[in-house]
Amino acid sequence: MTNSAPSHLLPVFARADLAFERGEGAWLISTSGERYLDFTSGVAVNALGHCHPHMVAALQEQATKLWHMSNLFKSPDGERLAARLCEQSFADYVFFANSGAEAMECALKVVRHYHFSKGHPERSRIITFEGAFHGRTLGTLAATGAAKYLEGYGTPLDGFDQVPLGDIEAAKKAIGPNTAGILIEPLQGEGGVRAPSNAFFGALRDLCDEHGILLVFDEVQTGMGRTGELFAYQRIGVTPDVMSLAKALGGGFPIGACLVSAEAAEGMAPGSHGSTFGGNPLAIAAAGAVLDVMLKPGFFDHVKKMSLLLKQKLASSVDRFPGVLSEVRGEGLLIGLKAVVPAGDLVAALRDARLLSVGAGDNVVRFLPPLIVTEAEIEEAVQRLELACIALSPERKQGAA
Ligand SMILES: *Cc1c(COP(=O)(O)O)cnc(C)c1O
Repeated sequence: MTNSAPSHLLPVFARADLAFERGEGAWLISTSGERYLDFTSGVAVNALGHCHPHMVAALQEQATKLWHMSNLFKSPDGERLAARLCEQSFADYVFFANSGAEAMECALKVVRHYHFSKGHPERSRIITFEGAFHGRTLGTLAATGAAKYLEGYGTPLDGFDQVPLGDIEAAKKAIGPNTAGILIEPLQGEGGVRAPSNAFFGALRDLCDEHGILLVFDEVQTGMGRTGELFAYQRIGVTPDVMSLAKALGGGFPIGACLVSAEAAEGMAPGSHGSTFGGNPLAIAAAGAVLDVMLKPGFFDHVKKMSLLLKQKLASSVDRFPGVLSEVRGEGLLIGLKAVVPAGDLVAALRDARLLSVGAGDNVVRFLPPLIVTEAEIEEAVQRLELACIALSPERKQGAA
């Protein structure tokens, strides 16, 4: 299946020894013809599964018209997509980027320029939270603040003050005369599917209003239906001033976006920011097709229904295999299973059972099925999980020894 020739890909990923040739909905077919149930969705990207017919048609049509334009000219399709995203959210403006980290870079720049344009260039610091993940550029890595990713890359970009997640007193104390904003994920994905209470988000909103600083939600992973609403902030009931999107926005085509309220956008003018590829017509077509499907009546009801079913079934798996699993976490179809065994061992055992999952921090395994997953597929996934649990059970290991 795999060849042993030396790889010329920069060895920054620990890839599983497995490759796929095509996908259909929630299923992936490997290069050796085996079918895997895909509960990774390309790390929360393929929200409509693989090769959704509406997306395939939209991209095929756009491919015969225009691939790339730059931002030298007007973009009617970009205007339309931005208007739809604003209509569905708090935002008044959208900047299109190509990835989550780029969407986040724009968010950080918007926050700093807001205060700069108000005559406060010293207000450039942003409060972030432990366990966060905001991307791998030097700027977003500094916001992420994880020593293991920053090590060896020189002095991190200055301007971030990290406090414990859920600790409102620490957030309050961190606010000073140079504070420009607060940045948080509505639900930490990479950090282990962890979220503070809705009340905590409300308290952050109040703090921001009190101090005239901006609230930024990183919805790169939670946005576009993943937690059961189009955007996670709608479920929490707390509205940010700036929000980043990416992963599922293009359903598998690279696109990111930074959504900004009219007030927060006051510091941005021609020349303040830019991107060669941002708003690429193929990406805009893909994202428009994703929205078409998600905005059909009943789409989010389906996500919520599947979420409940998956959580209930996983909770019973946790009861049945206390030597392997300890807890179910998460919202919508961003579900974490805290493992007792090393999470990496569980991901590998699931892969052996032909169920694909993603590791996360805090010894958690993430289940990120496509949002179009069916009841039968969830039942199939849980059966495969239980096979993996049997293979990993301590009793069985003792018996085998
Ligand atoms: C994945 C992710 C990012 C980074 O997105 P990239 O497209 O990999 O640059 C940023 N923030 C969150 C919350 C993410 O999950």
